[in-house]
Amino acid sequence: MTRETPPLALLLDVDGPIASPVSRNVSAEIIATLIALVREGIPVVFNTGRSDAFIAAQVMEPMIDAGLPARSVVHAVCEKGATWFSFTANGPGTVHLDRGLAMPAAFGDDVRALVARSYSGHMFFDETKRAMVSVEQLVSVDNAGYLAQQDRFDADALGLLARHDLGAVRLDHRAPAASGRIEYRVDPTIISTDIESVRLGKDLGASRAVELLAGQGIVPESWRTMGDSRPDYAMADWLHHRDHDVKHVDVRPADGVPDKPYPVLTSVDLGLDRDVIHDDAGAAFLKAWLDAVTS
Ligand SMILES: [Mg+2]
Repeated sequence: MTRETPPLALLLDVDGPIASPVSRNVSAEIIATLIALVREGIPVVFNTGRSDAFIAAQVMEPMIDAGLPARSVVHAVCEKGATWFSFTANGPGTVHLDRGLAMPAAFGDDVRALVARSYSGHMFFDETKRAMVSVEQLVSVDNAGYLAQQDRFDADALGLLARHDLGAVRLDHRAPAASGRIEYRVDPTIISTDIESVRLGKDLGASRAVELLAGQGIVPESWRTMGDSRPDYAMADWLHHRDHDVKHVDVRPADGVPDKPYPVLTSVDLGLDRDVIHDDAGAAFLKAWLDAVTS
């Protein structure tokens, strides 16, 4: 295998920097820029908590429809590293699942029943997840109404975890299994609650991304990671600690930019206003990287 060393590789969170947090869709402009980057030989890897089905519908299909170049391969690490697949102009390859990182099926069944019984007015059970158990806000209800229900749901989910003797942590609350172990996490986000193995995370996604490129003989000179929340920094943390050159882009720096041993960029670094955030900032950075590799 010939070794390729592209100047950049992109590792991208999807919700926020790529998909609008409001519509949950990806703009035609972002799709076009991603394709132009791929055409320049820049590896693109998505690293998301979303399912492979979501990425296939929201990112893969629009990229194929807009003319993904023949023979180009794009990778998607989904469910925070538990599943992954690659796609070309011909469609998706096999979806891989690390079964050791999946929630027990009987627990998922109990959460599905709980949602149907008590929370179907505000939430839906994400049937597309293969490893995580995710319950998401219905787009038809407002966020404040959802958040008011979410605390109750999370408490019920912790009750179900205990009934299955699955040790779990939710924020500062720790509820070990009878063995004393905590192998699962309840992770409330602004639009969902994810229940997952504690081994899942954006760092696991970064390690898969490096492996997927290495499998193609690709060792990039430098990485650019991009996200909209604190957990997304784990991509750059992981890469930096393994001596990969990396810069991280935070498209929603309102929480403050933490001190990191690698550069952290925001829209201000592109000469834009600080209120250019989310996928508007994502689009601007993708364009800047395209300019850098085509100039
Ligand atoms: Mg995000």
